[in-house]
Amino acid sequence: MGLLNLINKDVSSENETRRGMVTLRILYLIQAFAFILDVFFAGSETFMYFKFRMAASLVLLLLFFLLTYHMKSEPAVVCYILFTFIWSMEMVPCFGWSGGMQNYFLIILLLSFFTIHGSRGFKFSIATLVLIARVMMIFCFGGMLPAAEISVLGNRLIQTVNISAVFVSVIMVSYIYSHRENEAESKLMRYNDRLVKEASTDQLTGLYNRRKAKDFLHDMMSVPYVGAVSLVMGDIDFFKKVNDTYGHDAGDAVLKAVADAMREVCGKDAFLTRWGGEEFLLIFAGKNGDEAYLETEKLRTYIMNHPVTVKDSVINVTMTYGLAEYDFSGNIENTIKEADKKLYTGKESGRNRVVY
Ligand code: GH3
Ligand code: MG
Ligand code: MG
Repeated sequence: MGLLNLINKDVSSENETRRGMVTLRILYLIQAFAFILDVFFAGSETFMYFKFRMAASLVLLLLFFLLTYHMKSEPAVVCYILFTFIWSMEMVPCFGWSGGMQNYFLIILLLSFFTIHGSRGFKFSIATLVLIARVMMIFCFGGMLPAAEISVLGNRLIQTVNISAVFVSVIMVSYIYSHRENEAESKLMRYNDRLVKEASTDQLTGLYNRRKAKDFLHDMMSVPYVGAVSLVMGDIDFFKKVNDTYGHDAGDAVLKAVADAMREVCGKDAFLTRWGGEEFLLIFAGKNGDEAYLETEKLRTYIMNHPVTVKDSVINVTMTYGLAEYDFSGNIENTIKEADKKLYTGKESGRNRVVY
């Protein structure tokens, strides 16, 4: 608990995120832990030989660790980079080139990309400097043996400790910094999905809207063969009267009930859209006029036989429909117009019917 609090303690500056500091503190602790194991595996001879140097390095690590409580995150990252640089220079002579202290450079590279806010050019410049420093180390220390004898097993264990420390650090930094981006991205995708859905559905009835209907027809027409297509334009009879008699809210309830009826009766076979106001366009893809007629008749009688109850009022609803089959010659818009014309023929000849 104490260690967790130590790592999580807030930063001095108010507008800084805690993420950067917590990352640095964990990195310092990983290095300290790896160092203690390294000393243990190297044996007492190495320790005696380098005790002042090692003690000084450990004090330096502690100092830099404490600095994270008093600094802003960017200078703190620069300090970490500086520290790791000095640390590698100090440790390679102690444990030898094969100890793998030089690999801590990889963490610098990662941190400079994730935590320093700067232009791409700036980041690539830092990466280049890190590479140059790393290559210089090859020329200064490459192949260097430890000053004091370390057993073969001890050397292997030291290598294991250091490469593991580097791996854990890299994984941690990558996780911490990619986690939030991934989360933000999936949030954005979910939001986008919602927007797409909202842009294509009618809020009141939950049916598709006119824009979506047009897209659907357009997509359907752009594939070479879709089979028969029938369009039905339906309109609620005397709907104005419903609004005038029972109020606008009751009118809305009727619209919802009509949409529910459509989903219930032909939701599986037709693409249901609210074309506007109290008009609905039903697209029967894969059904010829006769088949669509039967379905529409079913819908007509269903709606006629299911009055809508709003508060204490029972509202009888009927609809008139115009049906047209697309003949694959010419524009589908003309078929919509034809269905519309038939709808008005139905209105003129008494309503509550399907005109085909
Ligand atoms: P007809 O049988 O000839 O179709 O007569 P009608 O009264 O249904 O037709 P009209 O076009 O005269 O009236 C349609 C009404 O639909 C007028 C408008 O206020 C109402 N309306 C359109 N959209 C909505 C809506 O979202 N909610 C409600 N409550 N009413 C709506
Ligand atoms: Mg109407
Ligand atoms: Mg109308």
